[in-house]
Amino acid sequence: MGGQIKLGVIGDPIDHSLSPLIQSKFGEALGLEVDYKAFHVIDRELEKFIESFFADGGHGLNVTLPHKLNCVRFADILSNEVELIGAANTLSKNRNNQIIASSTDGMGFIRDCSEKNIELSDKRILILGAGGASQSIIPSIARMNPAKLMVDNRSPDKIEKLLEKFSSFRLRPFERNHEPIDLVINATSAALSGNFNWNIQSQLNEETVFYDLSYGKAAIEYFSWASKFSDNHFDGIGMLIAQAAYSFELWFDKFPDLSKINLDVLNK
Ligand code: NDP
Repeated sequence: MGGQIKLGVIGDPIDHSLSPLIQSKFGEALGLEVDYKAFHVIDRELEKFIESFFADGGHGLNVTLPHKLNCVRFADILSNEVELIGAANTLSKNRNNQIIASSTDGMGFIRDCSEKNIELSDKRILILGAGGASQSIIPSIARMNPAKLMVDNRSPDKIEKLLEKFSSFRLRPFERNHEPIDLVINATSAALSGNFNWNIQSQLNEETVFYDLSYGKAAIEYFSWASKFSDNHFDGIGMLIAQAAYSFELWFDKFPDLSKINLDVLNK
C-alpha cells in the first residue's frame, strides 16, 4: 500500500467525533501513513458519498449516527453480526472492490469489560435502552453466557420488538425480575436531557457494577444516579477505543497494541 491511506468517519453531526484522533494514533503506532478525516454526510447523500469514497481509492470508513442502519443497504457483503443486528459501524473493501459492512461495537464492549475485569458469564445483566447501541451489544453479551440478560426501555413497545428480534439469545424483559442485578448497562442517550433516573431500587446494591456506553461529560448524570447504590462505575471510552481498534484490524489485518498507544487526551 503506497502513499497515504484514505480513511474516514461519516455522520451527521460529526464535529464531536473522536475517531480521527484515535485512528490516526493507531496508524502512527503501526508506521502507516493514514489520512483519516471526519466527513459530514447527510442522509440523502449517503449512497453517493460511500460509492465515490471507495471509487476514489478510499480504504475504509467508520459510520456513526444516524447512518449505522442505512449504510447497510449500500454494502455488497454483510458480516454475520450485521446480518443479525441490521446495523454497521465499519465499511471496508475487498480485492474485488466489493464493500463489506461490519459491526465492531459488540466486540469493543466485550474487550473493554475484560480489560476492566467486569464479569459477564453467569451474571444477571440489565441493558437500559433499545436503540442502535443496545442492539449492537446484545448478541456479544449473550454469547458470554450470562445467567440472565434483560432489557428495559422508556418506550415499552420497543422492548417487545427487541425480544422478538433477539429471541434466540434468551433476552428477557426487566419488568418481571426481582433478583439482584450484577451489571447495569446504560445504552440510552437520556443524559442529553441533562438528567438520568431509572425506576429501579431494590435489585441494586453496593456490588452492582454500572457501565455507561456514553463517555466523558455525557456519563456524569448516569454516574450520579449509580452512586446512590455503588462506587463501581465505568464510562464507554474504553469501548470506543476498542471498537475503533477492531475496525482498524478489519482494514489492516493488525490489531493496535492499545497498551503502547497514549490516548490519555481522550479522558479530559
Ligand atoms: P438511539 O437514538 O438509537 O437510542 C436511544 C435510546 O435512548 C432509546 O432506547 C431511547 O428510548 C433512549 N432514551 C433517549 N432519551 C431518553 C430519556 N430522556 N430517558 C430514557 N431513555 C431515553 O441511540 P444509540 O443507541 O445509538 O446510542 C445510545 C448511547 O450509546 C449514546 O449516548 C451513544 O453515544 C452511546 N454509544 C457509545 C458507543 C461507544 O463506543 N462507547 C458506541 C455506540 C453508542 P426510546 O426508545 O424511549 O426513545
